[in-house]
Amino acid sequence: MAAPLYDVLGRLIAFDTVSAQSDLAAMEYLANLLDHQHWRTTLHRDTLAGVPQANLIAACGPPEPDGLIICGHLDTVPFAGQPGWERDPLKMEVAADRIYGRGTSDMKGFLAQCVEAARELPAARLKKPLVFVFTASEEIGGLGARSIAPRLADLLGNLPCPTLCWIGEPTSYAIHAAHKSAVVVEIRVRGKGGHSGAPDRGVNAIAVMGKVIEVIGALQEERRAVAQPGYVDLFPEAPYDVMNFGTISGGIADNVIAEECLLRLSYRTLPDSDPRALRDEIARRLSRIETHDYASRNARATIEVGPAKVMPAMPARRGSTLEAVLQDVTGTVRISGAPFCTDGGWLAHVGISSLICGPGEYAQAHQPNESIPRADFERGVGLIRQVIERLCC
Ligand SMILES: [Zn+2]
Repeated sequence: MAAPLYDVLGRLIAFDTVSAQSDLAAMEYLANLLDHQHWRTTLHRDTLAGVPQANLIAACGPPEPDGLIICGHLDTVPFAGQPGWERDPLKMEVAADRIYGRGTSDMKGFLAQCVEAARELPAARLKKPLVFVFTASEEIGGLGARSIAPRLADLLGNLPCPTLCWIGEPTSYAIHAAHKSAVVVEIRVRGKGGHSGAPDRGVNAIAVMGKVIEVIGALQEERRAVAQPGYVDLFPEAPYDVMNFGTISGGIADNVIAEECLLRLSYRTLPDSDPRALRDEIARRLSRIETHDYASRNARATIEVGPAKVMPAMPARRGSTLEAVLQDVTGTVRISGAPFCTDGGWLAHVGISSLICGPGEYAQAHQPNESIPRADFERGVGLIRQVIERLCC
């Protein structure tokens, strides 16, 4: 297999692009690789979660409608402190069947393939625009995509912004047409501290949080009982809004009445349900809780429900030309929903419909000793070229 593909992946892995680090150097490296022939590259800089980051837009082709966006994120999840690593996360290791390193599957492998596919692309033959959108900070809420989506049309100048997008997240070339939202809400109970020997002088926040959990649990059961028929195909395991008690903390010692308790609740709503409405429904139900502690009748706790931090869902737009072409070139027939979030939710806000399909394995994403099968990695360049050929030439 051509050396440049592996070289590019090795270089990309060596850049530490954990979301909390700046991706500028790595994006400049990619921009330089694409800055040839007829490509026009733009680094869109922004400060995301307090860190200077860049998204990269690389475009070529004539100013015609019905082009294609190919999208991937450059940031990775952290590796420091993650148990189980037996290799250097920032050093590509090529074994017989697999390539190891942070981001091999999620999703530097796909970006390396894009660059390699572009290298020998007969750009002069393009009849429709082809746009690479490489994003920052996807792993922390899709912040790069959120920032760039509303500006994309402007940044492309006279090139009509394509409305179809291919996102190469690791799916082992399964095709996902939709995903749920991902939402986090913080719920804080403030009680009244004191000596555990005199419980009626305080209000135990942990005890009241127990009631909170009970109320949310009842809501969970309700949602579970009403599977949405329209989503049974896309999300057969859970065709409804799902919730998860993520983390909880409270109290300072065995013999002290817990003054505070903090719950981080996460949930995922179906593409056509409003993620903020679920937060409001939770707040409404919690406002009816009897906030006395079981051990005390004298004082009440307060319950604060924070704002919903939303990574939006990606609604399905079925039957596109991209769908047919991806099915054809990958040999994948079944279209399903993704069990994870992508930049596609933010892109959908500006009228761009995405399909998720890529090399690498979902099971490898975010894992120690992350890897990608060499066969997937090498096969991908040809797939990208075929998709471009079929949709843009
Ligand atoms: Zn990813």
